[in-house]
Amino acid sequence: AGLRDTEETIFDKIVAGDIPSEKVYEDDLCLAFKDVAPCAPVHVLLIPKHRNDLSQLRKAQPEHVGLLGHLMSKVGAVAEAAGLDDYRVVVNDGAGAGQTVFHLHVHVIGGRELAWPPG
Ligand code: 5GP
Repeated sequence: AGLRDTEETIFDKIVAGDIPSEKVYEDDLCLAFKDVAPCAPVHVLLIPKHRNDLSQLRKAQPEHVGLLGHLMSKVGAVAEAAGLDDYRVVVNDGAGAGQTVFHLHVHVIGGRELAWPPG
């Protein structure tokens, strides 16, 4: 496992409440909160509360399948809580794709017309 897999991230501090966040949805396994630098009128981050070394989607192991299923199954609830009708779900996997926080997270973006392909 690389250093980034186990390193504490800013999202651990958000889960712990050490950094404030605007929560949108929460359950035992995951937390959704507004992105501090939104790229659209609505931009929410959905994260596992306990990353279990899952820094990136490419690192997914059999023990992460339940967690990944849970996250995907809650995207609809997150979007509804955020008032979204249509929306985009994004995982930036790797620095070259825009990943800056190495704690698996799902972007839920909407509130405006979203072009496809995204560029
Ligand atoms: P990535 O670029 O890794 O896919 O996404 C990380 C996201 O986290 C970025 O969109 C960035 O704006 C957001 N972010 C970074 N630090 C904070 C923070 O302290 N609070 C919140 N709410 N979002 C953050």
